[in-house]
Amino acid sequence: MNKLIERSELRDIYEKVEAAQRINEDDCLRLYRSQDLAVIGMMANLVRERKNGNVAYYILNRHINYSNICILDCDFCAFYRRRRDAGAYEYNLPQMIEKAQDALKLGITEIHIVGGLHPSFKWDYYVDMLRSLKALDPKLHLKAFTAIEILHLSWVGKRSVPETLAALREAGLGSLTGGGAEIFDPEVRSVICHAKESAEEWLDVHRTWHKLGGRSTCTMLIGHVEKEHHRVDHLRRLRDLQDETKGFTAFVTLAFHPDNTKLPDLTGPSGYDVLKTLAIARIYLDNIDHIKAYWILMGLKLAQVSLSYGVDDLDGTVMEEKIYHMAGAKTPQEMAREELVKAIHETGREPVQRDSLYRPVKTGGAGHGVPTATQAETGSDLGLVGPAETAYAGASNEGGAA
Ligand code: SF4
Repeated sequence: MNKLIERSELRDIYEKVEAAQRINEDDCLRLYRSQDLAVIGMMANLVRERKNGNVAYYILNRHINYSNICILDCDFCAFYRRRRDAGAYEYNLPQMIEKAQDALKLGITEIHIVGGLHPSFKWDYYVDMLRSLKALDPKLHLKAFTAIEILHLSWVGKRSVPETLAALREAGLGSLTGGGAEIFDPEVRSVICHAKESAEEWLDVHRTWHKLGGRSTCTMLIGHVEKEHHRVDHLRRLRDLQDETKGFTAFVTLAFHPDNTKLPDLTGPSGYDVLKTLAIARIYLDNIDHIKAYWILMGLKLAQVSLSYGVDDLDGTVMEEKIYHMAGAKTPQEMAREELVKAIHETGREPVQRDSLYRPVKTGGAGHGVPTATQAETGSDLGLVGPAETAYAGASNEGGAA
């Protein structure tokens, strides 16, 4: 056994992870309270390579934040505006179609769509948005809406949540985004987003979507007022739901950015904290196949390092990001495919362009890749349980036993 591990206070947890045993919440808290990042990283890397081998994924995607006008006023959010505030904006359908058409010329396979809870957009605005974007290219995957947007649309459209999700899916919704989970603990929520949906409502929207056969991602926002035990509780609730539905494709750690929020005195998480959280998530969330480093929030350099700390996905080209840049993010708004591929290559990992469900689209460097599967070959992009899921499961387990 490696001397570092032999001497580590975390040796017993390492032995569990090595034996592919599930760690419990006490173990998870001990990982958070330990400063032994080297051994935590070794454990995370063990799980990462067991699940995903040497592969590191990226996607060609475009974000569209259709409006920042919102009826809520979450304290941690720098994005929202009231209708008459300076900086308030909303995109109409032709504007969104133009953005999507430009991005399609660059080869994107996914559009990621989220916005504020708009006070007056009607149900048809959302349905027409999905239908029109889908009509541009039936293979384009629309990853859209957070759980709170779904609850808002359910109210706007006077439909139950299952009816809302089914109608949106029929209009072209491919998968749900993972935003809005923040930290599930009610006391933390009462400080950072008092009027937002509860943990139970967030989990219920995702549970309902998963039971309809859909897929989604899940997130945790760190670096504000939460404590370590809140993070452990949050991860536990995500792992429990994944045990029940198996509907999450990936977990994403979101780093809080305080600029222009109502919590300006907080600092957000350190790089050390982000790296450790990603590694702990990889170890604890043994039933979620992928851990994503969102470079927009943590910078490409740290995201690159995280590929050795449990992460297997660097997200994508993004192309236009508003939510975190309005909160002071200093990262670029887009990343060329070549830069993502180079960043992955430098770490010794194998870059693989993926689709929204982690099916490989292209392996190797930009422009030199060997197509392994195209959306045309893999069929549906809806993320529904069925043949597409079989392809997904095969791709995600190519590194070994889950
Ligand atoms: S986090 Fe979302 S719901 Fe909350 S204020 Fe910002 S845009 Fe609105």
